[in-house]
Amino acid sequence: MALAASVTLAASPGSSLVAARAAETPAPVSAVSSRVETAADHSRLIFTLTGDVAPQARVAAAPPRVVVDLPEVAFRIDPREGRSAAGSKLIRSYRYGQFAPGRSRVVVDLSGPARIVKTACVAGQLEIELAPTSEAAFNAAVTQSAAQSVSLAPTQPAAAPAPTAPPSDRPVVVIDPGHGGVDMGATGKHGEQEKAIVFEFARALAAKIEEGGRLKPVLTRNEDVFLPLNERVRIAHENNAALFLSIHADTLAEGHVTGATVYTVSARASDAEAARIAEKENLADQAAGLESKESVEEVGDILHDLAKRETRAFSAQFSQALISHWKEAGSLNKNPSRSAGFVVLKSYDIPSALLELGYLSSEKDLARLTSPEWRDQAAGKTAEAIEAFFADRSREARAPQKPPRPQ
Ligand SMILES: [Zn+2]
Repeated sequence: MALAASVTLAASPGSSLVAARAAETPAPVSAVSSRVETAADHSRLIFTLTGDVAPQARVAAAPPRVVVDLPEVAFRIDPREGRSAAGSKLIRSYRYGQFAPGRSRVVVDLSGPARIVKTACVAGQLEIELAPTSEAAFNAAVTQSAAQSVSLAPTQPAAAPAPTAPPSDRPVVVIDPGHGGVDMGATGKHGEQEKAIVFEFARALAAKIEEGGRLKPVLTRNEDVFLPLNERVRIAHENNAALFLSIHADTLAEGHVTGATVYTVSARASDAEAARIAEKENLADQAAGLESKESVEEVGDILHDLAKRETRAFSAQFSQALISHWKEAGSLNKNPSRSAGFVVLKSYDIPSALLELGYLSSEKDLARLTSPEWRDQAAGKTAEAIEAFFADRSREARAPQKPPRPQ
């Protein structure tokens, strides 16, 4: 069970970075298994580690969670292990992974209000013991730990320097593989993880764009690490991105729904499904235990409004290019063009779109999403769409100016 994780994780290029880094610094402690023990009056989540670490735990609300901060720990555990904690009345599920460079995190989803009885790590056993408590006591603990975390430790991961491309006269395309680290995103029934699938796709797409030689690709994350949503947008701005494309894959209760969908931003969702997806994707920060509700600033002045209007028109144009190229690859959702209030798409000045590659809940899509041949072909079509979008834009820029429209 414990080794199965390496199937998904080893495929992530983050592991080669980790290996390269290991040559310089001592290898981090690894977690090799996890289990939940339940008794009448408490539940205990136990990780077996290859060494000891100093855990720091706190409670958080909406939804009720316990967040355990750790120094860097390499989790070599089947990601399915935390998906449900059968038998525990207190622990619904738990997840774990990297939170920021050098920091890891365990997030425990609670079924009801709980208090932290004990957090300790002795002889390679990391134990988090929880007991039921009243709603009022839980809320008081949340308030207290929020106040402490403001004064003591940053709840935001330290802002790592944004990956920036060396100065280039090629327009920059920022490719944003969703989720990462402690935030796994959607999961397939055999343990496939959205964060790994979209990362592989983003890397393949970056390689295709680089091959084309006309555009400069930049990835928002180069390894399996958590990245807050506003940080993704900041990376696009710091790189003067001419286009931002976020890559995701979703899951649905209805296993028969298949195919890719392209989303752009809109104040009102195009349909209920788009609203649901945006709501879910916007919760990524929360999934990682991030407190801040900070989102991208929406600047209200008139110049920004004008820029925003133009940006949205370009975003729509790009979305159409993407859909017409994907049509040839033959795996589009029956309603492939949608819009909703995605936080990562809210730059007022960078044309942005979000590509949901398909559904991990569909066997058909899952076979595609995990196939290197499909990935190569679909990344190729996506790169072609991006090239076509820029070619159209430069043709428009070269075309004689249209007379100004009468006011
Ligand atoms: Zn996602």
